[in-house]
Amino acid sequence: MRILLITPPLTQLNTPYPATAYLKGFYAGQGNEVRQVDLGIEVVDRVLSATFLSSIGLTEQARLIEPVKRFLRGQDDTLGPRIANRSLLPEGKRFEQLDEDNMEWSFGVSGTTDKAMHLATLFIEDIADHIRENVDSHFDLVRYAEYLSNDAPTFDPLYAELQQTPSPIDRLMLQLLEEYVSGFSPEKVCLTVPFPGCLYGALRCGQWLKAHTNATVEIGGGFPNTEWRQLSDQRIYEFCHKVIVDSEEWVVGSTRAQMLPTTHYPLPTEICPDFSDLPLEKYLSLTEMTNPMHRLWSQGRWNKLVMAHGCYWHRCAFCDTSLDYIGNYHAPKATTVVDHMERVMAQTGRTGFHFVDEALPPKLLREVAEEILKRGLAVSFWGNIRFEKAYTAELCDLLAEAGMVADTADRRGLPPPARRRHHGAHLPHVRLPHRDAARVRRRPGDRAPHVRRGHRAERILAPLRHDLPLAQRHQSRSLWGQAYILGAKSILQQRGRLGARL
Ligand code: SF4
Repeated sequence: MRILLITPPLTQLNTPYPATAYLKGFYAGQGNEVRQVDLGIEVVDRVLSATFLSSIGLTEQARLIEPVKRFLRGQDDTLGPRIANRSLLPEGKRFEQLDEDNMEWSFGVSGTTDKAMHLATLFIEDIADHIRENVDSHFDLVRYAEYLSNDAPTFDPLYAELQQTPSPIDRLMLQLLEEYVSGFSPEKVCLTVPFPGCLYGALRCGQWLKAHTNATVEIGGGFPNTEWRQLSDQRIYEFCHKVIVDSEEWVVGSTRAQMLPTTHYPLPTEICPDFSDLPLEKYLSLTEMTNPMHRLWSQGRWNKLVMAHGCYWHRCAFCDTSLDYIGNYHAPKATTVVDHMERVMAQTGRTGFHFVDEALPPKLLREVAEEILKRGLAVSFWGNIRFEKAYTAELCDLLAEAGMVADTADRRGLPPPARRRHHGAHLPHVRLPHRDAARVRRRPGDRAPHVRRGHRAERILAPLRHDLPLAQRHQSRSLWGQAYILGAKSILQQRGRLGARL
């Protein structure tokens, strides 16, 4: 069977979202002819082109866009000093927010490339703002018409918008879709919707596919898995033939008992993702914020991988652990995880991994770290953890030695004392697997953080400790402390993004 896998606009721009790569690994292994496309990066590539920018009157930006893209793709570092000295790029509203002190502190005198990446990102964001205000109100750099899907109580506003004439960016997207479809004639098209910011794009694609092809259109991903379990509106079938939830076909308006058997999708831990035929050279490393933790999210082409399926803890009182991608925990062998890492490295040429699990299981992390060291691999990796007494100083050091460079943790893992028993974590027991904690840089004037003898990670955690007096917590807030708090905030805001089901 010919199968086309699509990530609709828009997800992040620095690296491919892995859902289609996992599906490709699975379908290709069954002998199907499979292609995958990230319509998000393809659309952005066309929007950020001299032709498109000239057509909307941004002539100066049109002249500079190709060199800036090459720089943000890591293909021409030599442009960095010119961008960093602020004599090249036109500076719009985004540059008004620049804080010189923060820039000085963040990049110093030698962080030219990083500084240039931040300035080039502001240039790109200025262009995106102009497009949203003057050309297409749906457009944003990493989400598309998200406001129509976010917490929408009914399908009506989204449906009404989908009945309108396609917007200029819609037309660009549909043009690209037509090119992919006409060159391949798929019998089945799978649209993944990991986030609300992809839903409108997915439905526009589905609408076009149903009108112009005979392919079976399936929609799945983290968003339907989380948000569509009560969906009863049959109008969804105007945009697809099947909705896939928990590896099965969800009959809209029905109960779980009425789910139909469909292709049996294995857990992602059983598949090696296949990133071939994605245009890896087109991804853009953006530096939206100077915060070092935030930068990991948008900078660098990390290979995204799942270590274990589901959450090993699945006991937090506030968490919907009935969701398959949380409650159904499955840990593969460490050798399988590292085999997958090696195959992906060979395919993408990148040695950095972002594990997108809800919460990395410490036991498996240990085994993976030992396997990495045993094979002598030079890799770096990061992911989300829950605050956990299993992170002993010894485990932290082992993980750092194997290549773990950062971790984010959900602040919900730091409950007030009354709720601690639901979490099983008591902060003074917690260590973080991050050797760089030892190299905390602080702004001039910051007070020295509280350091508990025995482990450097306490420097990070000191601002968060509930057993310290409030004043001491505030005084001891280090940069890295803030970085981790901000990381946690971002996770709270993006609940469901990490480790979302394919
Ligand atoms: S909140 Fe996080 S750690 Fe707690 S059960 Fe849910 S996924 Fe697991």
